[in-house]
Amino acid sequence: MNKPIKIQVSIFCEPCIICGSRPVIAQAKGKFIVRCGANPDHYQTPPGMVDIANWNKHNHRDPDISPTTRQLKQG
Ligand SMILES: [Zn+2]
Repeated sequence: MNKPIKIQVSIFCEPCIICGSRPVIAQAKGKFIVRCGANPDHYQTPPGMVDIANWNKHNHRDPDISPTTRQLKQG
C-alpha cells in the first residue's frame, strides 16, 4: 500500500553501505523509516521521524586511515 518516498536529490544521503543504493523513506503505521531503496533487509532507521542523519551515520564508510594512524606516521 505505502509506496516508498524518494528523497529529494538536494538532500545529502549516504548510499547504502551494503549495495550502494540511494535510501528511500518508507512509512509504517504512520511512522517513517529511512531504508535502502533496493533491499528492505539492509539497514533501516528506527521508525519515527525521517532521520536521514541516523541513516548517514550507519552507512558512512570509515576512512582507512584513522587519525591515530596519521599521527603515528607523522612521528
Ligand atoms: Zn542496500
